[in-house]
Amino acid sequence: MYEQASKYLNKNNLKAITIHLGNGASMCAINEKGESVETSMGFGPLAGLIMGTRSGDIDPSVIFHMAEEMNMSLENIKNTLNKQSGMLGIAGSNDARDVSKLYHEGDKHAILCYEMYTHRIKKYIGAYTAVLNGVDTIIFTAGIGENDALTRQLSCSNLSALGIIIDENTNISKNHPRQPVEIQAADSRVKILVVPTNEELEIALQTWEVVK
Ligand code: AMP
Repeated sequence: MYEQASKYLNKNNLKAITIHLGNGASMCAINEKGESVETSMGFGPLAGLIMGTRSGDIDPSVIFHMAEEMNMSLENIKNTLNKQSGMLGIAGSNDARDVSKLYHEGDKHAILCYEMYTHRIKKYIGAYTAVLNGVDTIIFTAGIGENDALTRQLSCSNLSALGIIIDENTNISKNHPRQPVEIQAADSRVKILVVPTNEELEIALQTWEVVK
């Protein structure tokens, strides 16, 4: 993703934030040497962003509450946080296409879900901009990142203080691209890219680097 963005922008030493939004979701801060210096994934994939069925970051006290006050077993807690939380838990579906439709119909749970989902992304954009001491480009990718203009719009709204300004119309017109595209406004200091993912190719290339 980072390499594709560097190539597309024809720029080395990019400071980038990648935002991978699929069924699973994570963000990465990548410094000017191309090193990943932060990721929202933690000990396991439960940490970080809100996902299709995973909660993402929660206060660990919630686990004690579930066990002590709700009499839930460890297995049940694990299952709830991994398989029944996130978009599914908030809006009733783990597919952003359904939640987006409900959002546009004014469904209050879907609206809450988008607000929570994109607020979390925005928080990480702020944190990673600080970690990197400024960012050159933000990269959206994967099922939701590439195909859901609403998520990109809400995640990047009101970030002009960080030099991040999305172009609302371009964001919609360049949805679901086959090649990397830019969706920032003319006066945005930070480039906002949508880059189609090719996870299988990426895994194959990285595996080859290890075994060759
Ligand atoms: P991935 O794990 O990258 O295959 O992403 C899968 C997720 O992307 C699905 O569960 C949907 O939530 C989301 N998705 C796929 N297509 C669209 C679309 N056209 N609009 C919104 N979300 C989409």
